[in-house]
Amino acid sequence: MARVYNFSAGPATLPEAVLEQVREELLDYRGSGMSVMEMSHRDRAFTAIAEQAEADLRALLGVPSRYRVLFMQGGATAQFSLVPMQLARGRTRADYVLTGSWSRKAAREAARYLDVHIAAEGEHAVPPRAQWRLSADAAYVHYTPNETIDGVEFHWLPDVGDLPLVADFSSSFLSRPIDVSRFGLIYAGAQKNAGPAGVTIVLVDGELLDEPHAALPSVFNYRSVADHASMLNTPPCFAWYVCGLVFRWLLEQGGLAEMAGRNRRKANLLYHYLDGQDFYHCPVAPADRSWMNVVFRLPEPALDAAFLQGATAAGLDGLQGHRLVGGMRASLYNAFPEAGVHLLIDYLREFARRA
Ligand SMILES: *Cc1c(COP(=O)(O)O)cnc(C)c1O
Repeated sequence: MARVYNFSAGPATLPEAVLEQVREELLDYRGSGMSVMEMSHRDRAFTAIAEQAEADLRALLGVPSRYRVLFMQGGATAQFSLVPMQLARGRTRADYVLTGSWSRKAAREAARYLDVHIAAEGEHAVPPRAQWRLSADAAYVHYTPNETIDGVEFHWLPDVGDLPLVADFSSSFLSRPIDVSRFGLIYAGAQKNAGPAGVTIVLVDGELLDEPHAALPSVFNYRSVADHASMLNTPPCFAWYVCGLVFRWLLEQGGLAEMAGRNRRKANLLYHYLDGQDFYHCPVAPADRSWMNVVFRLPEPALDAAFLQGATAAGLDGLQGHRLVGGMRASLYNAFPEAGVHLLIDYLREFARRA
């Protein structure tokens, strides 16, 4: 068996210890005589998995008790619609801060339900808070803490006064500690940094759940989902279970402060190399570079194919940038080992020397 260094942006690399535990428990989950895949979600063995996952997630992030924790389906993309449908609460406008491809998509989808006001916009950079023009009557302010495609990350938490702050944390969820109490709602598709595809995690302030849109499907109603412990209908059981194993692994590693240290160190290694040479180019403003998704370009797109072919041969997989922006992207999520960053830097150096 030969595992590659997987730089994919998502679905992405998982901790090897978690995959091994999944393998060990695959045919007979802890004496139940069946796989978690085969188990009723009403079975006590599964409800225990679900409860433990929520408890561990709350412990990792220090989630205040007034927040509901939801395990939903539909991906972050479904949340682009669900947020405006449920958080408008009689208001007609919401503010969006645009820093890349995913925040633009979120704003475009919300515009089907609300008057979307672009409060600030940045290209390869985060717009400073002083430049944001917030609407006094906004239902909420939405931003994307980490732009997975563009490699732009907020390294600060915006202060929006009394307006509920909504964040699409899909690609930086659990990568460092955050103060959940500063947010109205946080959502994250699991497949970047928290687990396998199929489950989307939502943390929402219970006080925001009063007046959902009348046409909202009940399987997507945050309050109903919360009141049914995310089992209003059949949940994505297996993905939820694997997320729970990842949460447990994170606790054992020392929690999110430890992950933040590792993630900063891995990203800095790579940015330090990129800044010290002039063959490759990183388009993102230095203060706003993502720890999770390091975006860089070769001097000519014509070199991309040879670069990727050589990388694959060296056991470095998934470096191709998103089709919208081209170039390269090295995703360095929690489970990505530092040894893989050193190997990538060796390869970058060698390719530049030969080109
Ligand atoms: C991947 C991603 C999405 C889309 O997630 P889906 O689960 O495919 O809907 C949205 N926002 C961000 C920041 C992402 O990284």
